[in-house]
Amino acid sequence: MADQPVLIIGAGISGLVLAQYLQRHGIRYQIFERDSAIDARSGGWGLTLHWALPALRELLPDHLVDRFPETFVNKEASARGDAGRFQFFDLRSGSPLFDVPAAERIRVSRVRLRQLLATGVDIHWNKTLRGVESTPDAIVAHFDDGSSYTGRLLAACDGTRSRTRQILFPDCHQMNPLPVQLLGAATLYSAEEMGGAQSIDPFIFQGSHPETDVYLFFSFLDTPNNFDDSSKDRYYCQLIVSWADAKGIPVPASSADRIALMKQLTDNWAEPFRSLVQRLPEDTEARSIRLEDWIFRPGRTHAHPRAVLVGDSAHSMTMFRGEGANNAIVDVLDLVKRVDMQQPESFNPEALSVSLATYENDVFARAEPSFLNSRQACLDAHEFSRIVEGSPLVAARKLK
Ligand SMILES: Cc1cc2nc3c(=O)[nH]c(=O)nc-3n(C[C@H](O)[C@H](O)[C@H](O)COP(=O)(O)OP(=O)(O)OC[C@H]3O[C@@H](n4cnc5c(N)ncnc54)[C@H](O)[C@@H]3O)c2cc1C
Repeated sequence: MADQPVLIIGAGISGLVLAQYLQRHGIRYQIFERDSAIDARSGGWGLTLHWALPALRELLPDHLVDRFPETFVNKEASARGDAGRFQFFDLRSGSPLFDVPAAERIRVSRVRLRQLLATGVDIHWNKTLRGVESTPDAIVAHFDDGSSYTGRLLAACDGTRSRTRQILFPDCHQMNPLPVQLLGAATLYSAEEMGGAQSIDPFIFQGSHPETDVYLFFSFLDTPNNFDDSSKDRYYCQLIVSWADAKGIPVPASSADRIALMKQLTDNWAEPFRSLVQRLPEDTEARSIRLEDWIFRPGRTHAHPRAVLVGDSAHSMTMFRGEGANNAIVDVLDLVKRVDMQQPESFNPEALSVSLATYENDVFARAEPSFLNSRQACLDAHEFSRIVEGSPLVAARKLK
């Protein structure tokens, strides 16, 4: 058993961070990814990394930490130490109401971060986990292509719709739907088209209209001349418009109708917020994201004692506080602290059972408040009066 690898399912944020840690410490692992390449899917989003940064630095080799700037959405702003204010605006008046404080934070492109984290990692692409089998001494992962791999631990880093979660908890893996509809679109804008919005914040801003409760999240995915493959003169922007189900506005099927709806819902916003949406080209792809969440319960038994949930597979939370990836990274640190992977005896059934139970308790104590706050932030975002009373949407992000 000692020379069996750790099996990592999913080459997302947590899977790649774990792979880097194991590689750095000479611990055998195999990492499997459903997609055919890092950039196989279109879309992508920015991530704010804040309270997980110390953990990330601890887990990764120095040469990758030094290369963090390769992932920044606005390298120039980050280089001058600007962490942004992440302001929240009243979209009727255009007035800023809150800054979201942070001791330290960086805003990165998720795809560029994954590219960096994949450096030197031998990923098995096109491997979709289908099933898992367990014996006291080993765990076997079966993939859709008919292949199987045996390991001494299976780290389920397979994200929000985790197949591992379904296998472990067949009766209680369903996500909790939240009563909110969300449309997101990304486009390139010139400085003129930005209408001054580029000077609000180098990274993100947000807001809501006090009468309609329609919410805006704006984020730069890339800025002019940020990298060789960046636009020379245009900003790559992501716009999210969302509203409560209670408004009774269904999401249209076609992208053109979704863009039209985004414009209709934001027509009464103050400038420059209004024009950011109104200028969206009609043929922009508008994606509907289902807002759902789920969190594991520590101590819940299952049939696979060598499987452990890490990151979104353990706790999928809404993105309204930007804490999902931060939790996923700290999960990895908690896991490698609790299971000393360099010691063969850590993988004895009894030892592993105790250390994984402790890991679960650590994760739950930290992630549950994030999960609940993220749910509340999502609900509050669509009820203006609650935000002004003080909401987790605009409160500081802190590691519990
Ligand atoms: C719009 C948006 C904005 C966000 N903003 C922030 C933010 O600012 N800050 C923050 O902390 N978090 C943010 N998040 C959340 C963050 O993206 C996730 O919490 C984070 O990516 C979770 O990492 P993970 O490793 O658990 O899963 P992921 O990074 O999702 O990786 C899962 C991987 O598993 C693969 N996979 C899935 N199923 C299988 C299978 N059966 N077999 C093999 N591979 C499989 C997937 O292809 C994927 O590569 C945001 C999310 C969204 C949607």
